[in-house]
Amino acid sequence: MISFDFAYFKPGTVEEAVRLFGREEGKGNKPLYYSGGTEIISAARLNQVRPGAVIDIKGIPECQGMHIREGDGQLVIGAAVPLTAVAESPFFPLLGDTARRVADHTNRNKITIGGNLCGQFFYREALLPFLLTDSQVVLAGPGGYRTVPVQLAFNGGTRLARGELLVQIISDCRYFHLPYVTVKKTKMEEIDYPLVRVVALKTETGIRAAFSGVSAVPFRSLRVEKVLNDRTLPLEQRIERVILSWPVPILDDVLGSAAYRTFVLRNTLWDVMNALEGGSA
Ligand SMILES: Cc1cc2nc3c(=O)[nH]c(=O)nc-3n(C[C@H](O)[C@H](O)[C@H](O)COP(=O)(O)OP(=O)(O)OC[C@H]3O[C@@H](n4cnc5c(N)ncnc54)[C@H](O)[C@@H]3O)c2cc1C
Repeated sequence: MISFDFAYFKPGTVEEAVRLFGREEGKGNKPLYYSGGTEIISAARLNQVRPGAVIDIKGIPECQGMHIREGDGQLVIGAAVPLTAVAESPFFPLLGDTARRVADHTNRNKITIGGNLCGQFFYREALLPFLLTDSQVVLAGPGGYRTVPVQLAFNGGTRLARGELLVQIISDCRYFHLPYVTVKKTKMEEIDYPLVRVVALKTETGIRAAFSGVSAVPFRSLRVEKVLNDRTLPLEQRIERVILSWPVPILDDVLGSAAYRTFVLRNTLWDVMNALEGGSA
């Protein structure tokens, strides 16, 4: 049960959503955009959030659907598309295979791609394929629309301005046929938050890799990729170097100690790199 009252709005346009957010913010109502609602409802039941207003974005056409854009052939995904639809779509196999291991099927029916990227849970596993494919995000705020690289808005933490709405994610189809590996290691159960999630893509210029679960933010690091791709060194040495210079502290929590995560990360990197360098992906 949610123990407080709040206003519910379901605008039909991006402009109206942003305007409503500004108005409710001005009234001191601490509004939230509402997408799948799974995180907001769970947190509200525990009194961890108390929005005075929620703005449901599921009625906004731009936030719905996945399609290949005419002209430039880019894939456009609306922020309110549920993870099940993403997982079942044939367009972007790396994203589909990654999304398929987020939560269970029932929750994936509700959790949206935009919610996964913008929510407070720091895993944001569905972000990783977008980081590897240099995707763009369309954001809308009081100042209008802006389209920026996903790296700028989400790599290593979310950097949206207050009241800014994630409208769409745009990805370049030329990455979709490239060999990839997406691996999720959990503590016990198949469905759980990741102890280590590695998503990697083999491009003409080298292997790209992004990580979730290892540290308190999901990220892609060019420095990590440079070491991983340095074929003058044996793979074992490259992986040790990557781990020694890991750019963000390795998590030490109830899911696993830092030492255990490091152990799992080392083994996972070994498998991922062997699969991509050996060509079995
Ligand atoms: C049972 C369960 C299991 C989970 N397992 C995993 C997992 O394995 N891996 C993983 O990565 N995550 C997991 N999550 C986390 C989940 O991906 C996030 O909680 C996500 O935010 C839920 O999406 P939603 O659409 O329901 O978000 P909502 O509850 O609608 O919103 C969450 C937050 O994001 C903001 N927001 C949502 N959409 C937008 C937007 N378009 N623009 C700006 N702000 C927005 C909201 O204002 C709110 O603050 C799990 C969650 C649940 C409930």
